[in-house]
Amino acid sequence: MELQTLKNILGPEGVITNKDIHGGYTTDWTGRYIGSTPAVLFPKDTAQVSQVLQWCFANSVAVIPQGGNTGMVGGATPLNGELILSLKKMTNIEETDGVSGQLVTQAGVTLGDVQQAAIKLGWKYGVDLSARDSASIGGTIATNAGGSQVLRYGNTRRQVLGLEAVTGTGEVVGDLRGLAKDNTGYHLPGLLCGSEGTLAVVTRARLRLVNAPEEEISILLGFESLQEALRVVEVVKKDLYDVQACEIFFRNGLSLVCDQFGLTPPWSTPSNVYLLVDAAGQSGLVDRISQSPLAGFLESSKYVAFGSDAVSRKRIWRYRELHTEAISATGVPHKLDVTIPHGRLADFYDNIEAVVRSIDNDAQLFLFGHAGDGNIHVNILGPEPEDLTVDKVVLEFVASIGGSISAEHGIGRAKASYLHFNRTDSEIELFRRVKVAFDPAGILNPGAIFNK
Ligand SMILES: Cc1cc2nc3c(=O)[nH]c(=O)nc-3n(C[C@H](O)[C@H](O)[C@H](O)COP(=O)(O)OP(=O)(O)OC[C@H]3O[C@@H](n4cnc5c(N)ncnc54)[C@H](O)[C@@H]3O)c2cc1C
Repeated sequence: MELQTLKNILGPEGVITNKDIHGGYTTDWTGRYIGSTPAVLFPKDTAQVSQVLQWCFANSVAVIPQGGNTGMVGGATPLNGELILSLKKMTNIEETDGVSGQLVTQAGVTLGDVQQAAIKLGWKYGVDLSARDSASIGGTIATNAGGSQVLRYGNTRRQVLGLEAVTGTGEVVGDLRGLAKDNTGYHLPGLLCGSEGTLAVVTRARLRLVNAPEEEISILLGFESLQEALRVVEVVKKDLYDVQACEIFFRNGLSLVCDQFGLTPPWSTPSNVYLLVDAAGQSGLVDRISQSPLAGFLESSKYVAFGSDAVSRKRIWRYRELHTEAISATGVPHKLDVTIPHGRLADFYDNIEAVVRSIDNDAQLFLFGHAGDGNIHVNILGPEPEDLTVDKVVLEFVASIGGSISAEHGIGRAKASYLHFNRTDSEIELFRRVKVAFDPAGILNPGAIFNK
């Protein structure tokens, strides 16, 4: 491929080729998708992104936008030799406003850096996930990332007040005014959130911040049965106004985490099910919890641990956050991130093991996730990474009970064949027409969301 024009646009340090391209760009985080690319491009600003995409459009060259490459669905992997457009050098937080609680950032800034900038400003950014130090704001917008605090603050789409993006022809669209009310036609930020780099490259965003809590507390609870745990989930969602996360994991997952990372389990007797409840709010939090219906469960349970400062909270959170890494350190997992409709979680748990075993009797099944949102991460080790039979039956099962085959990770390449489990033919056709409007030459992330 003739790369001289791109080098002229980006400068020699803005294009890397051959031996300088390592797996961090071409292999996805799970290790399941391995691609290759002639070059990784590093624009520094929106004008450069626009020039690069004008060239790609004119020359029909496919390009994959990439942030931290922490996505879970092969959405940023160049399986067909596409160029990679990395936002890693677009790392300026350009504007912070401590009065309105907003900031404007380039898309390559990590989620962790935005969180820190918000704290410095006396506010908080309402999205959190354990890949925070690598995942980019552009990537979280492109995947409409969820994470542990959706229960309280909503997903990424809820945080984006305005954005700027470059379409597949190189045209710059959007605005960063962040008006509280602006019903002027279609809502571009809403459409581009979750578009997975198939419509436009997000270059900058104006984000809303939420009130910083004065106190935070983490509570770990152990249960014998899932039914007991689900009863507490209901109480937490309905009656604990300060709740900001309600996470679930199970005995085999915790055991794997403790083995892999040398952690001591929370109690000498293992529980079958664990809930991690995080509460945050104004001072007086402990009093409010002790007057809430949750207090009864806390008093009667033998298995409760509290974390009320940064160190003890982190210790508790490690049991949950290290699940993804512990599983990936054991093998290449089939990762299926699903939402179960309200009231069907018990049904799901009763059947999921049999569904997996119907394909591979020796498979290891690990479940964990965001119980408060009905969002469960189904991780399966055993079946060969390229054998997708187990993926199909699990997603079919989830769709059959009214769930979503992608809660927060997106469709990417991993689930493109199954989009029709949740979307009608007419809807998929409409999506394709929207893509053509933004990307008439089909150069932006081909193969993601849609089978070609
Ligand atoms: C340990 C771990 C825990 C995780 N936990 C969660 C979780 O709790 N919740 C959750 O939702 N996700 C989670 N994820 C998944 C991942 O972190 C998110 O999907 C994140 O939003 C990806 O951001 P990224 O910058 O790494 O994007 P990438 O992986 O680089 O890209 C993801 C997708 O976005 C597109 N893209 C990237 N940047 C842009 C841009 N600027 N413009 C247009 N398109 C772009 C890519 O083409 C691709 O389709 C986790 C991942 C890991 C490794």
